[in-house]
Amino acid sequence: MRREHKCRNVAFVMMIAVLVAGLSGCGAANDRQSDIKVPATNAPTGDKQTTPTNAPTGDNQTTPTNTPAVTNAPTDTPGATSTPTPTVAPTPTEEPELGKLVVIDAGHQRKGNNEKEPDGPGSTTLKAKVSSGTKGHFTGIAEYELNLIVAKKLETILRERGYRVIMVRDTHDVDLSNSERAEIANKAGADVFIRIHANAHDNSDVHGAETLCQTKNNPYNADLYAKSRRLSETVLNALCAECGCKKRSVVETDTMSGINWCRVPVTIVEMGFMTNETEDRLMATEEYRNKLAKGIADGIDAYFAD
Ligand SMILES: [Zn+2]
Repeated sequence: MRREHKCRNVAFVMMIAVLVAGLSGCGAANDRQSDIKVPATNAPTGDKQTTPTNAPTGDNQTTPTNTPAVTNAPTDTPGATSTPTPTVAPTPTEEPELGKLVVIDAGHQRKGNNEKEPDGPGSTTLKAKVSSGTKGHFTGIAEYELNLIVAKKLETILRERGYRVIMVRDTHDVDLSNSERAEIANKAGADVFIRIHANAHDNSDVHGAETLCQTKNNPYNADLYAKSRRLSETVLNALCAECGCKKRSVVETDTMSGINWCRVPVTIVEMGFMTNETEDRLMATEEYRNKLAKGIADGIDAYFAD
């Protein structure tokens, strides 16, 4: 409404100007006419749409909703028109490239669940569904708390780098067994599954970071060994480079339910020992937690860079 009025006013002003110019019949006036500033009509305000809130932050959603349809790029073939119309460069509708999907599992939960589940598909070996984890022997911080804090930092960094992220949990009050956590990553079709943990040892001198994956003879998912092994290496290398901690090793084991149930590349990250005073206190600091998250993110970058 308002805009129309303005336009009419502008048109009116211009008409007057043309009339005046016509009457005086001199070039100067004509020049002046071109000086009349047509107010740049209302530049579209609010071009910046509010940034779309990042997709799934929900708790343990088992159904990932990220299956964006691959829309076909417009196949605008310029018609064989004889008129030499100035060809405006076709604006390629940019298809947002889909980021790799990382599923992050912050290990454990507030209340462990000692009910049993098979440690792999079809296995007769039963293990506790999920324990409540260890805790800082000097700081008293629970492992499940530390894990989630670092997991959330990792989520933020990965999203900033263009990854899609699904969090297995974003609260402590869940009841998710290790196989169920793996199933979330499987159903989502994760490109990688990162399981965040902290370690414990009877000997308080033991310290350093390590990562875990299956052996190449794993009865359930040996086909994922090569990828999981490489992921475990890139993450361990980058984490230790960033944090300056001792690099222990990639541990290969077929005893972890959370690995055996995986049908996607997986690594368990043991960030450090909560039974070692130095590491326990370091992992209680914001600065070191940031480094842990950045290191893991760098390792994921490195995995996909190859
Ligand atoms: Zn743990």
